[in-house]
Amino acid sequence: MSEIKFYYGENVPLEMHKVRVVQKLDLVPVNRRLEAITEAGNNTFLLKNRDVYLDMLTDSGVNAMSDKQMAAMMEADDSYAGSETFTRLENKLQQIFNMKYFLPTHQGRACEHILAKVYVEPGSIVPMNYHFTTTKAHITLCGGTVEEIFIDEALKVKSTDPFKGDIDIHKLNALIEKHGAANIAFVRIEAGTNLIGGQPVSLKNMQEVRKICDTYGIMLVYDASLLADNLYFNKEREDQCKDMSIREITRSIADLCDIIYFSARKLGCVRGGGICTNRNDVYMKLRELIPLYEGFLTYGGMSVREMEALTVGLEETMDENMINQGPIFIAYMVSELQKRGVPVVTPAGGLGCHIDAMQFLSHIPQSEYPAGALASALYIISGIRGMERGTLSEQRSSDGSETYAHMELLRLALPRRVFTLSQVKFAIDRISWLYENREIVRGLNFIEEPKILRFFFGKLKPIGEWQTMLVAKFKQDFGNSL
Ligand SMILES: *Cc1c(COP(=O)(O)O)cnc(C)c1O
Repeated sequence: MSEIKFYYGENVPLEMHKVRVVQKLDLVPVNRRLEAITEAGNNTFLLKNRDVYLDMLTDSGVNAMSDKQMAAMMEADDSYAGSETFTRLENKLQQIFNMKYFLPTHQGRACEHILAKVYVEPGSIVPMNYHFTTTKAHITLCGGTVEEIFIDEALKVKSTDPFKGDIDIHKLNALIEKHGAANIAFVRIEAGTNLIGGQPVSLKNMQEVRKICDTYGIMLVYDASLLADNLYFNKEREDQCKDMSIREITRSIADLCDIIYFSARKLGCVRGGGICTNRNDVYMKLRELIPLYEGFLTYGGMSVREMEALTVGLEETMDENMINQGPIFIAYMVSELQKRGVPVVTPAGGLGCHIDAMQFLSHIPQSEYPAGALASALYIISGIRGMERGTLSEQRSSDGSETYAHMELLRLALPRRVFTLSQVKFAIDRISWLYENREIVRGLNFIEEPKILRFFFGKLKPIGEWQTMLVAKFKQDFGNSL
């Protein structure tokens, strides 16, 4: 059964927008794709966009903007100080989060840099539901330690838990008792937990965490980058939110937090970021670093045009018909892949569809990067660019040994309102074909391995001749079709 509101027929997602600006795409032939991935060292970050058909690398900065956002960009006020554009954005954030103060930054990680500089010192502990790459890097750089206190269900690929992003309350209590409240810099909750498959956090869990923070006098910091998806799941999956508007759920979340920060590359569908708080002491401390690292207090490194579009984008995020677009397409993709036996992370989350490479390519050991091999293979047979989120994305230990990731995932991001249903169906079709031919795929080895952030720049080669064998099988089955 499907609800008429977002779906029709057999759970086919329904777009509540129409396309008014388009960008031409190419699907280059399979021979060129093999050449391109070889040139890119089997690293999808190094592919040129001209060789990519569907870019499912990320949702960052590539969500579709609305006509109203585009129009607003023309009205932006360029003045260095006291810009009207800033005032409009500040007012919108005050209205949505009910927080007095807003500090603009150039993107999400810039907020993390500033928060870590002010609140994290050597020996500090920062408990959180799960880390994000840039969050952890900034906290570690300041001498702090990230403690992940996710619930046991969080790392299970196959699950029915509606809120896998929740914090384990017992682990949080135990952690504070062990280290002492004074050594906890703050507790961080990440909306739509990115690295475990875009999994949401319940409002109930946040209320429980708030109580503990109150008991010990610890700040609660909320990473709202993936708030839009999280809000949709609060409304769909949580009893206490069923009869609340998106605006009311947002306010209920915000009322629990000391600080909210976000990447506007995700939230609001533009490019930028910011920090909000109601606390004057917090504002005064953080404010000093904004002109130093970002820009003057009324732009913080953002373009005023993006800020103007963000004001509109934030208002649009309060519309259920807008924020459902990512999740319902992802749910469709996940359920269709499941029907075909492809191992995917469940329940479907936000951000994208996550394929479990550990199971998909169970014959490839983690030391040969199954998720990286899967990303490479999928590109060759479809022109689809995904992102490895597994051991390749980790860093080696100081003794040179590998740090094996909790999960080996291939993330196929669905940037909001960007792809059509037939493109999603094409992806499902090719992934299913690859699954049937998975035995051909083998692992990868490094040929160039940078010491830090190796997943961005590193180059690898296939172990053996599997890629030419894959192309041969592809041609046998698809003939001259791309
Ligand atoms: C993307 C992201 C960030 C970092 O934001 P940038 O704008 O890319 O710097 C931080 N936290 C989460 C949860 C994110 O998804």
